[in-house]
Amino acid sequence: GDAPQSYEFQAETRMLLDIVAKSLYSEKEVFIRELVSNASDAIEKARYLALQGTQMDSSEAGMKIHITTDKYDKTLTIQDSGVGMTKEELIDNLGTIARSGSKAFIQQLQEAGNSDPQSIIGQFGVGFYSAFMVAEKVEVHTRSRLPNSVGYCWASDGCGKYTIEECEGVEPGTKIVCHLKIANREYADEQTVRDVIKKYSSFISSPIDVNGEQANNIKPIWLMDPKEVSPDQHDEFYRFVGSAYDKPRFVLHYRTDAPLDLRCVLYVPEGKPGLFDMNRDKDSSVALYCRRVLIMNKAENVLPKWLRFMKGVVDSEDIPLNLSRELLQDSALIRKLRTVIQNRAIRFLFDKSRKDSENYRKFFIDYGIFIKEGILSAQEQLEKEEMAKLLMYDTSAKPTGEKVTLPEYINQMQSDQKDIYYLAAPSRELAESSPYFESLKKKNVEVLFCYEPYDEVVLMQLKEFNSKNIISVEKQMRQNKDAVDFDGSEGSLLRTEANELMEWLKTVLAGRCWGVKATPRLEAHPCVVTVEEMGAARHFVRTQFSQIP
Ligand code: ADP
Ligand code: MG
Repeated sequence: GDAPQSYEFQAETRMLLDIVAKSLYSEKEVFIRELVSNASDAIEKARYLALQGTQMDSSEAGMKIHITTDKYDKTLTIQDSGVGMTKEELIDNLGTIARSGSKAFIQQLQEAGNSDPQSIIGQFGVGFYSAFMVAEKVEVHTRSRLPNSVGYCWASDGCGKYTIEECEGVEPGTKIVCHLKIANREYADEQTVRDVIKKYSSFISSPIDVNGEQANNIKPIWLMDPKEVSPDQHDEFYRFVGSAYDKPRFVLHYRTDAPLDLRCVLYVPEGKPGLFDMNRDKDSSVALYCRRVLIMNKAENVLPKWLRFMKGVVDSEDIPLNLSRELLQDSALIRKLRTVIQNRAIRFLFDKSRKDSENYRKFFIDYGIFIKEGILSAQEQLEKEEMAKLLMYDTSAKPTGEKVTLPEYINQMQSDQKDIYYLAAPSRELAESSPYFESLKKKNVEVLFCYEPYDEVVLMQLKEFNSKNIISVEKQMRQNKDAVDFDGSEGSLLRTEANELMEWLKTVLAGRCWGVKATPRLEAHPCVVTVEEMGAARHFVRTQFSQIP
């Protein structure tokens, strides 16, 4: 071919490379994970394009990742039979930072003025560039699988420039040769490389061989018998599919053949959700497969929005392989899939609430907001009530922090109690001393305490649970029809005096209240202002007013 052409890396890339090359980051071995995952992505893309009927060079048999080590040359070579790259793709993909992970890394460095990039480099996984943590030179030999493509050789020492040269005899796919720095020659050792692959890349769904011998277990975990998968395997798989660094707190491994074929592993993270997770537009963390072929990595719509905190894999044979991404957006099939998964997830969480109540309580504190969102966005009463089984509230019957679910509440109801009572207040203290709570407290009736503004909206939307009305204690008080006996005894007015007082209050408060009534319900409070519903809104109003100087 022609003489190699020289190019400069984009400024951001240079900055990243500079950090990476000087990296003292102790787990340099992650570069293998990054290169292997790129190889795997390239293979998945090739498979997907083939299924789509894209015309491709198929001069090669199996889709695999082939790794070779050479101790004497100090090289580690990773070759894949994936999509490969055209010259333009080489420049775009390896010369600039398009990748979100690396971008976020650079941004965090710039914004926080972080003086210790080593501490965060591992969190981001800087992709292809991580090869420069261990290599003094990296060569990329690649040929696109699109018909009539020519091969190229890309090379760089990671110091600002790279070259591209047309090459003869390049196999379709990509081969990356890392010329290791002396200090990192361990990565030219076969056993070291095998260990690293075992640690990070066990779940890569294409076969990986090191110097000709298979190095990964390619049995996808979600197709295995749930009983055969160990917690460690789940931890690893969770980190792999979820690009996560924590552990799963709950594991839902579910397989069914009816009403549709479904194999899935879904995880609830150990960590709390971030603000970002609350965003309804957040990328999905669920990969959609069909018969082990990756259809889409961040598959929207497979889970209902409110379950977006779950990460994992969904595999269904019922999804036609040639289903277009557009059709995948909202076909009847995807809707059915979503319903089946939602029902199973609800049943799963409900089981947790009964059999693993302490962990469920912690889960609810962290993720309860998503369940409330689910109820508010559900269309059918039945569906709302299914999700409502997952709600938990503080209750007058238990000390602060010990929560009760609606099914538990109903179980404990007194024989003559018909409704479910709740009281919306900003805190336990205010709930306990609320005049609305007074009479029910005396009768020993359990009342749910709701502290979050959403709680009341959710309960009002719900209206009923298990054919029981859900009623605010304020409403209950207003509806109370008990006659009040004014007999002039110690501490009581005469009936006539009482009537005069009501009339006087009505004139004084004219236009500012709906009515004035006597109630036998109060003892510790002389009077109370009631609203039909949305007591929490009143607290909200008060907060607003209290901000006026
Ligand atoms: P990411 O994998 O998150 O996109 P990387 O820095 O790891 O980021 O890789 C950058 C890009 O380079 C990839 O998106 C891909 O387009 C391209 N690339 C890297 N390795 C390969 C490969 N083995 N085959 C084909 N393309 C590759
Ligand atoms: Mg990558």
